[in-house]
Amino acid sequence: EVYGPRRQNSAGLDLSVKADRERLATAVAAIDAETLSAGPLVGGKLAVGTPPLPVVAPADDNRVVGAVSEAQLPQIDEAFRLARAAQPAWDRAGGAARAQVLRAMADALETNIERLIAILAREAGKTLSDGIAEVREAVDFCRYYAVLAEDQFGAGEILKGPVGETNSLRLAGRGVFVCISPWNFPLAIFTGQIAAALAAGNAVLAKPAEQTPLIAYEAVKLYHAAGLDPRLLALLPGRGETVGAALTAHEGLDGVAFTGGTDTAWRINQTLAQRQGPIVPFIAETGGLNGMFVDTTAQREQVIDDVIVSAFGSAGQRCSALRLLFLPYDTADHIIDGLTGAMDALVLGDPALAVTDVGPVIDAEAKTALDKHLERLKREAKVLHALVAPEGGTFFAPVLAEIPAADFLEREVFGPVLHVVRYKPEDLEQVAGALAARRYGLTLGIHSRIESFAADVQRLVPAGNAYVNRSMTGAVVGVQPFGGEGLSGTGPKAGGPHALLRFAVERALSVNI
Ligand code: GLU
Repeated sequence: EVYGPRRQNSAGLDLSVKADRERLATAVAAIDAETLSAGPLVGGKLAVGTPPLPVVAPADDNRVVGAVSEAQLPQIDEAFRLARAAQPAWDRAGGAARAQVLRAMADALETNIERLIAILAREAGKTLSDGIAEVREAVDFCRYYAVLAEDQFGAGEILKGPVGETNSLRLAGRGVFVCISPWNFPLAIFTGQIAAALAAGNAVLAKPAEQTPLIAYEAVKLYHAAGLDPRLLALLPGRGETVGAALTAHEGLDGVAFTGGTDTAWRINQTLAQRQGPIVPFIAETGGLNGMFVDTTAQREQVIDDVIVSAFGSAGQRCSALRLLFLPYDTADHIIDGLTGAMDALVLGDPALAVTDVGPVIDAEAKTALDKHLERLKREAKVLHALVAPEGGTFFAPVLAEIPAADFLEREVFGPVLHVVRYKPEDLEQVAGALAARRYGLTLGIHSRIESFAADVQRLVPAGNAYVNRSMTGAVVGVQPFGGEGLSGTGPKAGGPHALLRFAVERALSVNI
């Protein structure tokens, strides 16, 4: 019930309602008729970036969604300068004032929901239902962090101490945060990182994933329209190797929030370690090698439903997605049968159509990596079932394969590939131990009607988010605070009550009276 009473999750749209489907179709048609553009936004103004590059829809090689100009390095210095100048007043304004801006942003996102979903479908290849969930999550982050700002960034706490002295502890913003976000949640995580940093009293320089600058540009415009001093939020689109590297090496930063691959997190960590100047926090949310453990008491239909959603929803492009399904020998064939049938019912295709279950993967590079992985599965493991991808975009069709053990996978496979591992109940400890030994720790699924089985699996496989007898993706803000351990990230959890603490400094004050 933490922070529940004063906050509600966003309602979004409902694809089973005809009027909602029609509004979305209209919005998609409008986006198709428009050529979007994005570029560096510094001090609220569009700065002259690199020559524009086309942004092509993952679902259709022939569809140009818009164009992006990437930030030029001197603009980064300017963005730091403006942010530094504006941040102290924002910090002093207090949590309640900042909450107002975040709530205005949440309202603006809701007002623009159809347009945002249409952009997500075209630029990121997101299905409409994923788009709805994504806008809702962005709204939820703003409202949730608004409540935290009010509750945690006020006058501070009085601490009990000796007579004749008052002692207190309060939180304050750190300064200027760099937020680097991924293409798989190009609105929700982009907006959420910024909301957290702002709520805590920081200014933000935001670098969206290079694949998804257009939706990020929309979001920054909405923040500014919601009343945020534009100096407090700059948008610096570009590649990791150039813009990302310059941002994280900059002496002006006071912290970094990053969501993306584990390899990039290592690189950022190294860059930060080599910088001169303040030692800054690094908040990383990275990959997962997520397993689901099923025992013989599990309810088969439920398992099948939850596996399909968790492994193939969002074309498997969630860091929380199910990658390894552990099935007991006794029931494995029966479950695999059901899974192949359920896979055949999946509709692949244009993400902007309400019937589509699985859209494209993000780009040709992602598709090539998945194609290579599939070749390896054919050679070294056993492909149990594979669907056929539509032509014309970067589609990769869902695959079900059987592998001998968790260590077959060298790294996270980011797409709709589900790996089955059969196990004997008496080997659970060793089989689960092999997964835990990989040192990821993001999500964990368990299907069983025996509590001790669920408890054993949780003990054997540490994970930030465990889900029992349900799907294992789609953490809801304030309900399932999200984030992992080990190779999966540093915490604190997004959408949880402690989310803002690492964005802040703590200041203790002792006054002799
Ligand atoms: N929060 C998302 C979920 O629970 C995953 C976020 C990610 O993929 O980065 O599914």
